[in-house]
Parts: sequence; structure tokens; C-alpha cells
Amino acid sequence: MSHTAEIIAVGTELLLGNIVNTNAQAISQSLSALGINVFWHTVVGDNPERLREALDIARRRADVIITTGGLGPTYDDLTKQTVCGAFGQKLVLHPEILEDIRVFYETSLHVPMPENNVQQAELPENGVIFDNPVGTAPGCAFECGGVHVLMLPGPPHEMSTMLRRHAEPYLRKLSQEVIVSRDIMTFGMGESSVEAMLRDRMTHMVNPTLATYAKPFEVRLRATAKASTEEEARAMLAPVEEMVREALGDIVYGVDVPGLAEACHAQLLRRGMTLATAESCTGGLAAEKITAIPGASRVYRGGVVSYWTSVKGDVLQVPRETLDTYGPVSEPCARAMAEGARRITGADIGVSVTGSAGPDPDERGVPVGIVYIGLAAREGTFCRALDLGRRRRDRIQGLAANHAFDAVRRYLTGLPI
Ligand code: ATP
Ligand code: MG
Repeated sequence: MSHTAEIIAVGTELLLGNIVNTNAQAISQSLSALGINVFWHTVVGDNPERLREALDIARRRADVIITTGGLGPTYDDLTKQTVCGAFGQKLVLHPEILEDIRVFYETSLHVPMPENNVQQAELPENGVIFDNPVGTAPGCAFECGGVHVLMLPGPPHEMSTMLRRHAEPYLRKLSQEVIVSRDIMTFGMGESSVEAMLRDRMTHMVNPTLATYAKPFEVRLRATAKASTEEEARAMLAPVEEMVREALGDIVYGVDVPGLAEACHAQLLRRGMTLATAESCTGGLAAEKITAIPGASRVYRGGVVSYWTSVKGDVLQVPRETLDTYGPVSEPCARAMAEGARRITGADIGVSVTGSAGPDPDERGVPVGIVYIGLAAREGTFCRALDLGRRRRDRIQGLAANHAFDAVRRYLTGLPI
């Protein structure tokens, strides 16, 4: 049987816009991994009548209700009393929990426990207690007329600790389904074009499902399957991946990898090869992306940010006549920059980016969005000429850096650059 959940976050701060409801996000993520459908997120202030109303609505449409917040010892912490009132649960004092709270105060906070904390040890009579090793308010769960109610504290680190240690195991016992997702990563086409190519198939899919998400400068396709075991769900995803690869071809650069730089890093590692960069209009963005990956030094030798034409000549050894004849934003310059990076670092692959990022055309009148990617390797030097159009400067730079990594991964997998 599949379950339907509603998350009720309690807190006036949330309604005022003082804080973001990150607890709902975290709980939703873990429920979806457990195969429990989350159909509603509700936010209600620290007000017993409105919380009561929210609970009355939730119990009619959901069979798992998870509240966060309002478990503390102060007057505005009313979740437990209100929830127990709504579900006819008696609150009883648990001396062992009271002892835990007293110990937490004395050993972690180094103050005696204030008397109003006693009420935190009052918990539903017929339920499960979730202890709180990182704070004072314990959480709890009970079942009433087929509805499971779980109460978790508001502070995010307390909530997530309790979620992992107590709520997830509790819910896992209820749910017989698991949800498994795979992220199919693409580069080279916009989100709407990717979606257009798959629309007919996507709209008819129920389980597994397939959805597109635009990441900055690339498109992620998420395939999700629901089944009774993880193996079964994985088996259901294999044909979806195959279908996507067939439909989109070599714009698919990987599955379950965070980005293009990571895909390149993994392929370079596998082949025992090294990379160097020579960047102009991206100002080191490609170098930053690859060095952000732990273990980058095993594949990345270094790079030159050759912003001035003189640096392209003096450091990267781009020939004077190439610069004079074709200019710094040109295919011959991109090729020479890549060769220079490869030569001076001794890397297996040199990749370069030179272009006009705007907002104004460069001094030779090259229009905004014209970018050249060079790639120098043992087999020779390749170039990709791009017209990225009139976009914002940071977009041109981000896209250009991704094109550099795309050229590298294509070279490494034997595809045309
Ligand atoms: P305490 O014992 O600290 O009073 P509590 O369980 O009573 O905990 P609240 O008083 O409702 O929880 O919230 C405590 C703090 O936790 C809030 O000030 C806020 O910073 C954070 N918080 C509460 N709810 C959320 C939420 N849904 N998402 C993110 N942060 C939250
Ligand atoms: Mg509180």
C-alpha cells in the first residue's frame, strides 16, 4: 500500500518570511526516497486554533502527517498539546526523558534545567519517543485511526538528526516501496529542445517517470522508478536510460555525475591522462571548475589566464603573426593557445577558450558571443567555433567554460569535437 503524506511546519517566523522552510524540503527528500508520496506542504503560525484546523484537514487527505517546530519549552510551543488534543492522545510524563533533558542541560549547556522544561518530557501515552541527542525537545510518533503522526523539532540540525535516526526507520516499516532516480546529464541543447525531442514519450510515462531540469548551462533528465525493491526499480530505469540515449545521442555525457567538469575528471583519471587550460574570456572559470573537484591534481596540471594579447604571445607562445593577422578572438589563436598550454605544462591535452563576452564587441569588432575552443592533443589540434549570441556576460562565460569541458570529454570518448 502506498502512503500519502502531508508536512505541517509550525512557526510564525515561516509565515513572516523570516526563515525559509528548509525542514519541509529535507523531509520531502527523505520521504520520496522512501516511496511515500508527499502531496501537501502546509505552513501554519504558532496558533493552536489554526494548527488544529490544519490537522483536521490533513487527517482527511493524508495517512502520514509530519509536523516540525513548536516542541520547545516556551509558551508559543504548542504543537504537542494541539496535536494530542486533535487526536485524543493523552500526554504523560516520561521520567527517563526528563532525566535525559536534565543531563543535557547540565553536561552540554552547563546550567541547571529550567522548570518549564518538564513539559518537554510529557509525551503521548501510546506512541514511540524519538530522543534528541543534539537538543532538548524529544520528538514522537503515534498511530490513530490509520493515520501516523510524527512530531519533529524545529531547529534544522535537530530535525535532520531525528529524521535520520528515528523518523526514517519508523516510516520505512510502513512503506513497502522504494523510489530510485537516475540523472541523465546532457550538454549541447536547451531544455525546451530536449523536452521537445522526448515529449511524446515523456507524457505517457507513469512509472518510471522522466522529467527535465535546466541546470546552469546544461540539462538534466531525471528518471524515477517506484518498485518494491531497489533492484526492481533499477531494472525499470535501464530501458529509460537507453531510450534517452537513443533519442538524444551523444549530447548525453553521463549518468549520475554532477557536471561536465566531473565527467572529464573521471574520464581523465580512467585513462591516466592530464589536462591544462588556457583561458581568455572565461578568466579561469574552467580552471576553477576542475580544481573544485577533490583529487583534481591527479589530472589537472595547471592553466594560464591569458587576458592580454601580450600574455597570449609571451606566455603561451601564440605567434605574433597569428595575433596580428587573425586577432586574439579567432580560430588560429584558440588553436595556438591550446598548443601553448599543452607544451608549457607537458599535459596530454591542452584546452583553450577565447571569445568576446561583452557587453561590447571586442576592440577588433568581434561580436558578443563569438567564442573559440581549441583542443591540442597527441593526434593534433582541433577547434570548435561558437556563436553563443547576445547573452549576459556571465552566461557567455559559463557556457564557454562548459564547451571547453565538452570538447575534452568528446575527445576522450572518440567523438567529433
Ligand atoms: P526550540 O526547542 O528551539 O524552541 P522547537 O521545536 O520549538 O525548538 P521552533 O521554536 O518552532 O522549534 O523553531 C526553532 C527554530 O528552528 C526557529 O527559530 C527556526 O530558526 C528553526 N525552524 C523552525 N521551523 C523551521 C523550518 N520549518 N525550516 C527551517 N527552520 C526552522
Ligand atoms: Mg520553540
